[in-house]
Amino acid sequence: MTTTATMSDRATPSVAPPPLNPPERLLMGPGPSNPDPRVLAAMGLNPIGHLDPYFVETMNQTMEALRNVFRTRNHHTVPISATGSAGLETIMMNLLEPGDSAIVCVIGYFGQRLAELARRAGADVRTVEVPPGEVVDPADVEKLFAERPAKLLAFVHAETTTGAYQSIPEMVEVARRYDALVAIDCVTSLGGVPLEIDALGVDAAGSCSQKCIGAPPGLGPITIGPRAMAAARARKHKPSTWYFDLALLFQYWGEDGANRTRAFHHTAPVASIYGFHEALRIILEEGLEARWDRHRTAHDTLVRGLDRLGLSLFPPEANRGPTINVINVPAGVDEAAVRRRLLGMGVEMGGGLGALAGKVWRVGVMGYNAQVPRVERFVGALDEALRAEGYSA
Ligand SMILES: *Cc1c(COP(=O)(O)O)cnc(C)c1O
Repeated sequence: MTTTATMSDRATPSVAPPPLNPPERLLMGPGPSNPDPRVLAAMGLNPIGHLDPYFVETMNQTMEALRNVFRTRNHHTVPISATGSAGLETIMMNLLEPGDSAIVCVIGYFGQRLAELARRAGADVRTVEVPPGEVVDPADVEKLFAERPAKLLAFVHAETTTGAYQSIPEMVEVARRYDALVAIDCVTSLGGVPLEIDALGVDAAGSCSQKCIGAPPGLGPITIGPRAMAAARARKHKPSTWYFDLALLFQYWGEDGANRTRAFHHTAPVASIYGFHEALRIILEEGLEARWDRHRTAHDTLVRGLDRLGLSLFPPEANRGPTINVINVPAGVDEAAVRRRLLGMGVEMGGGLGALAGKVWRVGVMGYNAQVPRVERFVGALDEALRAEGYSA
């Protein structure tokens, strides 16, 4: 009897939450951006088994399309079944092991995160850090290599916290001289700015689905080149992660050529892959060059609009890129109140992170949103929100 009483005391009531009715938003923050409606439609296509021959073919097409978007012939190119951070974690956990040395450039929060991933992989990590807005001088990286070799050089291409872009070719050149692998975080750049993995000689790169690719969050596209795969295969020990072990992942996604097994590893998020496949299709139909131009044009529209409002961008002009725009909050303006007002108008932008919290806003011009009318709508709403907060240019 007491048992029954205890059980009913602890029983949870069967009360369903209300149905969801999320508001329509123009997502101009640092991510996610609005997906193309075609992507959302694709996510509702017929569900099938993840080992269904049709889905296996979908996986093959997705890998091939992703190679084209990364501009690479790397076989090992897949969307990891988790967000962008998971793709980067996959790279670090497989390319580094205890006893390895890594050099990581830190130009903002996401660089710190790369360094932390490398440490958790067991590597001895040395960092090159610069103040927010600045980028790393390759000569400072070279100094560290000259002191002591490292297996891997890692850095963030577009640092979403500061809006600064780290130029890639000079970094690859330094790493090559010391025979090190190069891994990049291109989460806020892939699909929005020129980025050619093979031509640049980048060994491993990780991005996400929800920024310039134009799909909802949930996938972490990565590409791993032959040198990096050789390093992963030459490990002394298996990686300490099971889910993100490249050897197991490619028993599932399929190795190149004859060893094309499809061993069950995890259940691919079928609906997310449908959406991602459609997003890649849209990118390749548009053409990468046209897409890069579109992002540049939309960014120019934003900059002209900000100029009219008397607002300035945080990073020095030489370090800026089109996809992530970090704006100085004008003196005397309550930045959080402005963001709240904007959201009331159905428009989202981001606040500052870490050292820049309260000092900047972060505005993404990414994917489907990188269109002049959408950017103009954003600028109009920002103007209204600023006026309502008592600001005048
Ligand atoms: C957004 C972002 C990430 C994290 O990606 P998630 O998909 O949120 O896990 C990592 N690095 C950079 C530079 C980013 O902008």
